[in-house]
Amino acid sequence: MKGFFTQKETESTTRPDGKVYSCHACGLHQGCKSPKMQPYGRFKEGILIVGGLLNKLEDTKGSPWQGPSGNLLKDQLKEMGIDLFRDCLSTSAMNCHVGDSKLDTPYQVASCRRFALELIKKYKPKVIILFGNLALSSLIGYRWKKDMGTISQWRGWVIPDQDHNAWICPMNHPDEVLKGDKELLTIWKSDLQRALDHKNNPCPKAKKPLIEYITDLNILKRIKSNVVAFDYETTGLKPHASGHRIVCASIAYNEYCAYAFMMPPSRTERQPFIDLLANNLIGKMAHNMKFEETWSTVKLRQTVNNWAFDSMQAAHVLDNRPGITGLKFQTYVRFGVIDYASEVSPYLKAVDSKNGNAINRIMELVEQPGGAEKLLEYCALDSIYEFRLAKLQMAEMNYELTPF
Ligand code: SF4
Repeated sequence: MKGFFTQKETESTTRPDGKVYSCHACGLHQGCKSPKMQPYGRFKEGILIVGGLLNKLEDTKGSPWQGPSGNLLKDQLKEMGIDLFRDCLSTSAMNCHVGDSKLDTPYQVASCRRFALELIKKYKPKVIILFGNLALSSLIGYRWKKDMGTISQWRGWVIPDQDHNAWICPMNHPDEVLKGDKELLTIWKSDLQRALDHKNNPCPKAKKPLIEYITDLNILKRIKSNVVAFDYETTGLKPHASGHRIVCASIAYNEYCAYAFMMPPSRTERQPFIDLLANNLIGKMAHNMKFEETWSTVKLRQTVNNWAFDSMQAAHVLDNRPGITGLKFQTYVRFGVIDYASEVSPYLKAVDSKNGNAINRIMELVEQPGGAEKLLEYCALDSIYEFRLAKLQMAEMNYELTPF
C-alpha cells in the first residue's frame, strides 16, 4: 500500500535499488596489488579527503596521493598550514586500482561507497573534501535524485551537509588541475582554502520548518510580515490549456514558518489568498516568479502586486554557472538539506515532456492515501527554503527591501 512510509524509510542500505553492492560483485580487488586500500592519515585536523581512482604507483606503494597530483596536493596543503598525512584521512571513491580490470564506474563507485560512509560514521569529520566527479558521485550521488551534472557546477560550494553533520566541499581533482590552465589552478587553490577555513566552524544544524496546514484561508488576513515567499503546485508548466489548475499553494511568512493549503474550489473561499496577492503592502518573493505570476493571472484572475525578490534570478546574479539556480540545488548547497522532493517530483513531470501545455500526474498523487499531505509538505518546504535563500542572498548582495 502506498502512503505510509517514505522510500528512504523502507530502503535497504546494502541493496538500495535491489542490486547487490559488494566487493565480490564489484570484483576489482582481484586484479590489483593493494586490494581494498585502507584509509591513510592521522586525521589530526578532522579533514576527510575523498579522491577518485587509485593510480598504478599508489597501488604499488599501498597508499594514496603518490605521483604528481599527490605532490601538488601535499605542497598546496603545506602552504596552507596543513600536512596531508598528519592532518587528514584519505580514502578514494574506488579503493582498488582498476588496472586491466573491467570498468563499470557507477556500479563500482556504488559498491565502494559503504567504506566512505563507515569512515564518516566512525571518525565524524568536520570537513569532507571531494576531489572530482567520482568522489562527488560517491558521497552526494546516491542522495541526489536528479542529474548530478559535473564537478564544474558543484566545485566551490561549502555545503553544511545535514545527513553527515559536516562541511562537504567538492572541488576539481588535482589530476584535472595539473592538466588545466593557470586559471583552474587559481580557482582550485581558492576552493581548497575556503574548505580549510571551515575546519574549526561547527556545521550548523538547519532549523526545523514549522508548517501549518489550513483549510480556512481567513487566517491569511492575520499575516503581519511585510514580505512573504509563496509557491504553487500545479497540473503543468503553463496554465493556458483546458483542464489545468492550481492544486495547492503555500506561503512562508518568515524563514521557518509557512501555511499550506489545497486551493479551494470557490472564489469566495480563495478570496483571502487573492487579497494577499493584491495587497501592495506585503512584498512577494518566489523562486522563478514568472511561474507564480502567470498562474495567478490566468487561474485566479489576479496579478501579483509588489513583487519584492526572485531567488532564482538572484542565484544567477551571484553565480552565473549553468545548472545551479534550481531551488533544490540551492537548498542543498546553501542549507545542506538534500532530497526533500524525490517522492513528489516524479508526479510533477509532464507525461509528454516536450509539450509545455501537457498535464502532469499530480492528481494521481493527491488521490493516493497520504498523497495530498506529502504534496502540501513539499509545497510548504519550497516556500520556506525560498524565504531562507532570499534572506541569505539579500545579505550577500547588500540588498534591502524597499517599503512600498
Ligand atoms: S573497488 Fe571497492 S567495492 Fe570494489 S572490490 Fe575494491 S574495495 Fe571492494
